[in-house]
Amino acid sequence: MNSHTPAAAPHPYLTQPDKGHLIDGRMVPARSGRSFDTVNPATGQVIARLAEGSAEDVDIAVASARRAFEGPWSRFTPYQRQALLVRVHELLDRHFDELALLETLDMGAPLSRTKAFRSYLQQVALYYSSQAVNTAGETLPNSLPGSIMTMSLKAPVGVVGGIIPWNGPLISQWWLLGGALATGCTLVLKPAEDASLSVLRMVELLHEAGMPEGVVNVVTGYGAVAGEALARHPGVDRVAFTGSTETGQRIIEASTSNIKRLQLELGGKSPDIVFADADLDIAVPGAAMAVFNNSGQVCYAGSRLFVERSIQAEFVERLAAFGKTLRVGNGLDPAVNLGPLISQKQLDRVLGYIDIAEKEGAVLAGGGGRLGGELAGGYFVEPTIFAQVRNDMRIAREEIFGPVISVIPFDTPDEALKLANDTVYGLGGAVWTRNIATALTMARGIQSGTVWVNCYGMVDPAVGFGGIKMSGYGNKGGPHHVDAFLYQKNVYINHG
Ligand code: NAD
Repeated sequence: MNSHTPAAAPHPYLTQPDKGHLIDGRMVPARSGRSFDTVNPATGQVIARLAEGSAEDVDIAVASARRAFEGPWSRFTPYQRQALLVRVHELLDRHFDELALLETLDMGAPLSRTKAFRSYLQQVALYYSSQAVNTAGETLPNSLPGSIMTMSLKAPVGVVGGIIPWNGPLISQWWLLGGALATGCTLVLKPAEDASLSVLRMVELLHEAGMPEGVVNVVTGYGAVAGEALARHPGVDRVAFTGSTETGQRIIEASTSNIKRLQLELGGKSPDIVFADADLDIAVPGAAMAVFNNSGQVCYAGSRLFVERSIQAEFVERLAAFGKTLRVGNGLDPAVNLGPLISQKQLDRVLGYIDIAEKEGAVLAGGGGRLGGELAGGYFVEPTIFAQVRNDMRIAREEIFGPVISVIPFDTPDEALKLANDTVYGLGGAVWTRNIATALTMARGIQSGTVWVNCYGMVDPAVGFGGIKMSGYGNKGGPHHVDAFLYQKNVYINHG
């Protein structure tokens, strides 16, 4: 609540630090007049103030999205939606450095990471532009008496509520923007309270590209108020949610108000399995970055690292040596590999799990502490490795969402698979081996939405990504993702 003066930040978007919601193409303050600070997690300094959204603000945004859905946007042809996405692809190129810097300042990921997404996001925009002209129905056979022709049409579901987390807003928002713009749906986005700036700026750019007002609206604010209001709103036809499993469960309950369609991308505790025959020169950095990437704040982090017992000691040693080569610091420094955690709350959570691990008898093999000195103002934790972890310890069962690897030894492929699947989650998973039979057995056996073999964390928009079990349901990307924004309308035509 307006408690701090935002620090002068090196970004043109932040020279005006008071941000409102983006509704009907305009930035508007919260109806309540309330706002809250948003902080650069590398320094702890306030960089902007965001509008604190209420149920009333959500109402206004949903009404705007409904007007656009039934109005000018409904008259956009598939080709016009495709052309809009192509223009956005061009704008992404021109503005990408600015967006990447904003994301770095807002959520801490180093520029070396945020800048690397330029071509990826452009690829996502182009992928969805190709989908805009490919949402075909079918002519279907029937056995009805008389002269009846039957076909299906694909129609947009309507207003979509998009609720996203803070760990990669530039990417998370695109799974929604792409689907909505390709299909003719409209959107109300509720970004995370800890990282909303790149979402606000991106939606401004969409308007520059010619998107009609009201097609995408942004309401900032806290999850329990603005997020909850969006998830319950009877004017919202579908909710696409990315976040924790606990919140996902609330979203399911809220969806019953008007039987909303849902897509849920939730938490994970993904298994990463290294066999003794793996090429350790790629498996060691691969397994390390499967967790340390984005300082562990990645839903599919391979945080349960199963290593065949015969190579366990060597692997842990090499992992620890690799961890020491990673430079942790303020992401504005181009040489930095790992940035801070998002907030004091997340820092306390991660340090709490490190404490629990030691009490449960896991052996600290690298890192394990908060970084001080010139980094003391931010929320920095060393890349941390625990060896001799058992799959029943809390650090192996609960999502930490920080740079903490749990190394768990195994003896046989059967045991590895059994341990890997002994979790409530089912998001990612990987296997490192030179043996194709082992690789395929594991790829088939691991119960998760995605399995990587001799690599980790690759996601292509044409392939997609999703979870099972308590990691949620529905794929982001891939050939069927746009179907989630459409419903099938069956048409019977009597031409007799
Ligand atoms: P979170 O569930 O607390 O918050 C996510 C979003 O939901 C935020 O915008 C928040 O404001 C909103 N929210 C919170 N309470 C709400 C409520 N009652 N009703 C409606 N909205 C509400 O999650 P987080 O801690 O911000 O993010 C980290 C979690 O997200 C981790 O569990 C991570 O695994 C998960 N995640 C999953 C994926 C995936 O693709 N599966 C991707 C990124 C993050």
